[in-house]
Amino acid sequence: MNTSSPIFSINQASCSYSGRLEDRVLYIEHLEIPRGEVVFLLGASGSGKSTLLETLGLMNQTLVKGEILFHGPADEEFPFSTLWDKGETNTGKLRRDHFSFIFQYTNLMDNFSAYENIALSRMIKEGVDMQEVIPGAAKLMDEVGLPLSQVDFEKEAVNLSGGQRQRVAFVRALNTRFSVLFGDEPTGNLDENNANELMRQVRLHLQPYQSAIIVSHDINLAIRHADRIIAITSNESERHGEVLPDHIFLRPQWENLQGESAAKFREKLSDFYRVKKQVTEEAKPEDKLLDKLKFEVEHSQFRRLFLKREGTALLGLKKINLLILTAILGLTLLAVGFANGSLAYLEEKLSSPFVNWLTLEIPAQRAGDFETIANRLKSPSLRTRYQIEDTRFYTMWNIRFWNHRTQKATMVRGRTIRFDKSSTEEPLVKEILSKKIAGSLEGLTDSSRMSLIVTEKFLTEFGYDPDSGFVLMEFKAANPDSLLLVPVYVRAIVKELPGKNDYLVSEEFSSARTQPDRRDCPSTFDIRDQHSLRFLLLDGTSEEVTLIRSTIDNILVQSPWDTLGVFTNTPYIHTNSFLSGYEIPLLLGRLDTNTYLKEMLVKTILSSPAIQPFSDRMRRSYEYSIQTGMDCIQPRRFNDGIAIQLASLDSIRGLAENIASDPVFNPNSESGLGGEKATIALDLGKVQEKENFLFLSRVTRLGAYLLILLGAAGVSLFVANLLKMHLEKIKMNIGTFKAFGLERQQAQAVYFEIILRFVGLGLLMSVAIALFLGYSFDLILSNDFSAESDRPSYFQPFGFNTLLTLGVLSLAILITSRNVIRNMLAQTPGDLIYNRE
Ligand code: ADP
Ligand code: MG
Repeated sequence: MNTSSPIFSINQASCSYSGRLEDRVLYIEHLEIPRGEVVFLLGASGSGKSTLLETLGLMNQTLVKGEILFHGPADEEFPFSTLWDKGETNTGKLRRDHFSFIFQYTNLMDNFSAYENIALSRMIKEGVDMQEVIPGAAKLMDEVGLPLSQVDFEKEAVNLSGGQRQRVAFVRALNTRFSVLFGDEPTGNLDENNANELMRQVRLHLQPYQSAIIVSHDINLAIRHADRIIAITSNESERHGEVLPDHIFLRPQWENLQGESAAKFREKLSDFYRVKKQVTEEAKPEDKLLDKLKFEVEHSQFRRLFLKREGTALLGLKKINLLILTAILGLTLLAVGFANGSLAYLEEKLSSPFVNWLTLEIPAQRAGDFETIANRLKSPSLRTRYQIEDTRFYTMWNIRFWNHRTQKATMVRGRTIRFDKSSTEEPLVKEILSKKIAGSLEGLTDSSRMSLIVTEKFLTEFGYDPDSGFVLMEFKAANPDSLLLVPVYVRAIVKELPGKNDYLVSEEFSSARTQPDRRDCPSTFDIRDQHSLRFLLLDGTSEEVTLIRSTIDNILVQSPWDTLGVFTNTPYIHTNSFLSGYEIPLLLGRLDTNTYLKEMLVKTILSSPAIQPFSDRMRRSYEYSIQTGMDCIQPRRFNDGIAIQLASLDSIRGLAENIASDPVFNPNSESGLGGEKATIALDLGKVQEKENFLFLSRVTRLGAYLLILLGAAGVSLFVANLLKMHLEKIKMNIGTFKAFGLERQQAQAVYFEIILRFVGLGLLMSVAIALFLGYSFDLILSNDFSAESDRPSYFQPFGFNTLLTLGVLSLAILITSRNVIRNMLAQTPGDLIYNRE
């Protein structure tokens, strides 16, 4: 190693902060700074001492003209005029390999321990773990008067006195590799004793190949410790600082001066430099005992150390920042959850048969136009223009059903449904069955199993047990000519049916029912059960059936049944029904003609104790006589209207207007002769209602998206500001780390990870809180309005919108935080340390 060559050679160097030569603040014609020396820079305030230090220390690119060469230990040369060309790639490496720093403001991380602060210089510069740094650091700490008994491994920097902090900063700078140690007024805040002691330590630890360049206010300190004093003077006319050849002094020039001449030399230096007496600090009694404290380093790597310390700092005092973040996130998620719930509710409403099916009633006078009107609705032009998905003819029905509560038959409103496809593919049926409570559609079109789809409301109002499986229909039989109550199977029970109907029948059912009163055509509804009695055991086993049969047999041998000649017949499996199981037929004997006694027997059997265990599954069973004679089949009855299914409600108003004005629907609409033919029109109230629905769902959707954006903006602004404020606070420290050679990417990654963890934690907490609150509110709300028990939950946190929210949120946070971190870390070490905008 060449220890005689200079470490810096400066030639005609102009330094300017604006990049323009005319703004230069420092000009140095020629200056060499030798290796292995302690060099003090003196000069009046503003003369450019810091500028020179920043320039030489590669903390800023101020060199606009001339050249500064850094000579590496192996004689390699680094010209500063081109070193910045690759940004901080070259300068960062050079600083990392060769430079170390101490500043007037210690630039320690308050929330890190003293030892963590010290370790950082080596962790950054040499990439070592903290464990490796500790022994050397402890030795140095001891030497500068901070033994472990005074500052242990746990002690946080914020709890150190000013003098202690400065000594920690010295240790941080000395305890790592360097060729040049830069100090900008490093003892500026210390008393004379401490300043001398620290400078003595610097000299003591300086290797022959290492130099120190120190800016100081203290002339005594310079005289005492410097090998060379360089005075920077202000060139008044040119308004910049400069170093003149006769303003460089070497130690031999003053070392042996005594009395008068020594004072004169001091006076000369004072001309360049105004001495300010610093506020002195009480020197603490120093404990020189090396404490044998055992230490354990938890976060030994740079990344882990920062994650722990800075991560905690970001959480805020009493975790207030985390709480605020959680609150904002939680509220956003809660709001989105409820918006989702409303959307799902509206969505369901929109897709239910009660919303996207419209009925167009055709008055009786217009029956002749039915086909024309139907064809018009099916025409491709109308279908595409108004998004008509499907059309179905229907017939209104009024059937008298037996009401158990009032004990008389009452008229009930219903309608037919026509099946073109298999029943389960039928869109209207499918939608109706989505509200199904019990039953299936199997066999709805089977004329031998004629049955109904009924509403739950109808069953309860009429006093039917939903499990009984049938309702009693009043029917005027042709043969014998009488009013009968015919049991009709209930195929399915649904929540509700469109158009305030209480039941739905197949067209086959309606044809059968309207069998004309022809003596030669026995009606389909002439049930055989008038002359038979059967019991059905749902899902029974043969053992159970045998048991039940013997029970019935036991009853039949008792009075009064024993006199009537009634017997059970062999049970058989009854399959093709909504109610399937074993059927036990009875041979009625003399009971056949006595309806009263027959009903008594039914009651006796069903209420007998031995039957009780099966009562849930026991039914009285009926069967129809099947009518197949062609001649007797009734021609299709006139339809009452057309049900129209719309793919979307967007064009509903247009369709209503079209129907009102189109002559196919209303031929007299043009002639203006109202009343000639009955008008055909969609119910405008219904149309309005559906439009309102559509509008509401759009507003809700828009609201949900606005909410998502607002939440994302709020959270990202909060996080970005928090980060910005924090980084602003530790700006000088970051600058110092950068001066030590911390790579931008490394720092960026750490802070990015801290933000991710912070936001992740907030997100987890907010999700938990939002779920808890959301479901609690939902529970409270559903207790208040229990009318709609099967409505979707008001709070639906899982869905596309939540994913979208989380996505938008994360993206917004990532982008804004990334910008903040980048902007801060992109600044030069000098700009950060000297706190410039
Ligand atoms: P000191 O000798 O007190 O350390 P400086 O080196 O800090 O002086 O400043 C030297 C001159 O450069 C001063 O006139 C100062 O105003 C100017 N200066 C320092 N930093 C900047 C900057 N970022 N932009 C412009 N001028 C600056
Ligand atoms: Mg300065």
